Amino acid sequence: MVDTYWNKKIETATRDELNKHQLKLLKTQVKYCYENSTFYRNKFKSAGITPDNIKTLEDAQKIPFTSKNDLRDNYPFGMVTVHLDDIVEIHASSGTTGNPIVGAYTTNDMDVWTELMARSLYTTSVRRDDIMHNAYGYGLFTGGLGFHYGAQKIGTTILPISGGMTQRQIKLMKDLGSTVLCCTPSYAIYLAEAMVQGGINPGKDLKLKMGLFGAEPWSERMRERIEKELEIEAFDIYGLTELCGPGVSVECNEHNGLHIWEDHFLIETIDPKTGDVLPAGEEGELVFTTLTKTGLPLLRFRTRDISVIETERCECGRSHSRMMRIRGRSDDMMIIRGVNVFPSQIEYAIMGLPELAAQYQIILERPGALDVFTIKAELTEKSVKSNQQKLEALKGKIKQKVNNITGLSPIIELVKPGELPRTVGKAKRVLDMRSDKI
Ligand code: ADP
Ligand code: ZN
Repeated sequence: MVDTYWNKKIETATRDELNKHQLKLLKTQVKYCYENSTFYRNKFKSAGITPDNIKTLEDAQKIPFTSKNDLRDNYPFGMVTVHLDDIVEIHASSGTTGNPIVGAYTTNDMDVWTELMARSLYTTSVRRDDIMHNAYGYGLFTGGLGFHYGAQKIGTTILPISGGMTQRQIKLMKDLGSTVLCCTPSYAIYLAEAMVQGGINPGKDLKLKMGLFGAEPWSERMRERIEKELEIEAFDIYGLTELCGPGVSVECNEHNGLHIWEDHFLIETIDPKTGDVLPAGEEGELVFTTLTKTGLPLLRFRTRDISVIETERCECGRSHSRMMRIRGRSDDMMIIRGVNVFPSQIEYAIMGLPELAAQYQIILERPGALDVFTIKAELTEKSVKSNQQKLEALKGKIKQKVNNITGLSPIIELVKPGELPRTVGKAKRVLDMRSDKI
């Protein structure tokens, strides 16, 4: 097909071409950081290196890591490498874990971000004739505006609705004939639920054909659920404020991992405990080096996001490496009775049960010596009418599924439809009330 790719040359470049391109950019970016940032100069000094030591892509491993704490310690502009007059836009992370982190963009950074968002949307087959319902939050959060800029570059019609006023969202989606939905996966499921309540049948009453979901971890089961309930094809999209926002990586039509746009980012996976670099195919923490940023460049930035990288060329023809669905953040990992558990594993375990709505909450307490692990799962309008015996059997089934994956036996509480909190942005699934979390 003529128009499968937004930028065919780059997207289908050979690995060799990509690596050559990356090395050239890496050397330039390293030199740029060294010359324009006291922070990086000090880091290089402490490691006993100068930009001249970076001769190959592997040499990047000589550079010390940059962490979220480095950004917080230098809040707000300590790590900015240009005069503040050259900063044209500022965003901030949603602060899911700690204080917000500031993203400062030059005109170049805005161009790169817009280009990568356009490429990401195009990869999922968003086109000029689409109508994009953008329910990501507009404002400091990079979600809303990131999708906006990218779609605008393609020429797609955008409805910048942002989050909230759910029934009004559904009315506009119907009246305008929106074809693409963009929001967090948890909000997508909430929208599906609100459609049922409002008497809307997505397959019949709406023109939605696809959605781009990200900004929080979600499971394969959640995808199945969204696709079934909204009657659409669901794509995973990833990004973070520190690198630009959404548009760092995205799924293609193969749905076999998210292509990382390697002409702008150098990717590594490391063992989060030791910092050792891991080979492709092994699960670890994602570490990114920006190759083209000028406002707030990041060398070997530790994301805390856990995933696996696959480097072989994808069936879609793109050569850019793929990161598998994010399992969670290293700091979201719960240690329950000594067992490491990610919320996404619990989601995967329970999401397949038709008797449950797509809402759940994990509660951790330690009243005595041992952890008490409770899962609150919400019933559907139909299953809430089941008799006690059936409900007890359902509890047993959930417990068994969680046990198969984690080896733990949680207490299961079934709650009425609508009882658990809904969010328009990132969902908060875990309530950890233990004073000591390990
Ligand atoms: P934060 O949530 O840390 O305050 P951001 O709003 O910049 O900051 O969100 C970026 C983070 O959101 C990522 O580091 C990652 O943990 C999570 N995230 C973004 N996209 C996805 C995705 N598709 N799957 C899983 N997690 C994601
Ligand atoms: Zn692909």
